[in-house]
Amino acid sequence: MGCAEVISLPEVRARKQWEALRQQLHERFDRWLDEVEAQLPASAPTLAQVSETIWTLRQQLTGGVAQTIIEHTHQEEQCRPSLQCATCAHLLRARPVVSRTVETLIGEVEVHRPYFYCRHCHRGRYPLDESLDLCAGRIQLDVQQAAADLATELPYDTASTVFGHLSGLTVSSERMHTLTNQAAEGLSVWDVAPSRDEIDQRIAQVAAGRWRRPVLVLGIDGAYVPLRPESARGRRPGQARQRARRAQWRHEWREAKGFRFYLLNGDRIVHVLSWHQVQTEGDLGEALQQLKEAGVMPADTVRLCVIGDGAEWIWKHVQALFPHACQVLDYYHCSEYLHKVAKAQYSDPLHALEWVEATLTRLYMGKVGWVLGGLRRMQPTSEEALKAIDNCWVYLNDHRGRTHYRTFRRGGYPLGSGGMESSNKFICHVRLKRSGAWWYEVNSNQMLALRCAKYNGTFHQIFTRHQRQKSAA
Ligand SMILES: [Zn+2]
Repeated sequence: MGCAEVISLPEVRARKQWEALRQQLHERFDRWLDEVEAQLPASAPTLAQVSETIWTLRQQLTGGVAQTIIEHTHQEEQCRPSLQCATCAHLLRARPVVSRTVETLIGEVEVHRPYFYCRHCHRGRYPLDESLDLCAGRIQLDVQQAAADLATELPYDTASTVFGHLSGLTVSSERMHTLTNQAAEGLSVWDVAPSRDEIDQRIAQVAAGRWRRPVLVLGIDGAYVPLRPESARGRRPGQARQRARRAQWRHEWREAKGFRFYLLNGDRIVHVLSWHQVQTEGDLGEALQQLKEAGVMPADTVRLCVIGDGAEWIWKHVQALFPHACQVLDYYHCSEYLHKVAKAQYSDPLHALEWVEATLTRLYMGKVGWVLGGLRRMQPTSEEALKAIDNCWVYLNDHRGRTHYRTFRRGGYPLGSGGMESSNKFICHVRLKRSGAWWYEVNSNQMLALRCAKYNGTFHQIFTRHQRQKSAA
């Protein structure tokens, strides 16, 4: 005994539609097989030969399948006789069908669609392009995103070559450059930040099974990146002129100021958000303030801790924005100051090392008072030693409240800003510091923004936004 299967009329229609499409796809596949047959060696091909033949022809198949599906599912738009003007409501008659080829990751897709033009509004439209959500230009969004994905890891020339090998699509290095910069235009910390929900999820994962709220670390620091001045831009793309100008500019190293929020999970770091730009400390403060005001970072489910070196601008913003956060002076920066003192004060390297170790241990135990007293009592052996001792004393005294390393350790707070330094490295240095690469400031910031988006897990979101902006325009 079985129950009779009840199928609604729309279902029957849908199934019939699908059967018809399937038939068309089979036909397309057959035509593709003819092509494969023609290109395969006559007998006993090696695996490499089979693989190469299919690899070469694969986009004909996949692009063709996409085209057939589109033709089938958008039949109405392809033979639409008229359209009402969106602005003046006049009825527009279809003009002759125009073909257009676009490039996607699965190959070329050709669309045939009527054109509509309103003489009153002087505006033309292709309704099919709108319902397919096509990008202006030949290269579609999936290709743009994949190209930018590669170009944010490799120099443009290499990215273009590798992209060609892997995707079978040709995107010149200039085009890659343009696509990447367009996608990154006007990005702010806002655009690259994960959503509050996403951040809450990461926190909940770290918090699971712990009795203390997890530590959310905010590291702030600068990283030097190689820039070239605006004046280095050639006025016109003339080789001779550009070469002549090239000799005139001097490169400069500028500080990309950045911050990174990350969670501590035992010995591991769980990344939350990075934002690095060649910017003033004021811009950095503003970005932090925006995040704070928008409530992107939760306050009640974490214990916030800020870590940095002795730079005054860092603590100015921290004091203003996060006065209740646990503030930590990077322990390893302290140790650099102590090494300078030891080197200037003691001629015997062993003696110097012993002094540094003993002093660091005191700091580690939270005895900054002892260390300050010890520095005060030191009899400088030279002018240089006097200067180093003074510097060290002022540094430790200024940041005294940020050196309670014993308490920090007990609270599970970090002592060093390793998490921030690695952010500097993988966001700023890996892509920007390459031999012979000198960046215009605007390009360097666009690259930095994209790389931040990538590590923040918002790269895809950037492209959706880019597409929306383009459609709106
Ligand atoms: Zn109109």
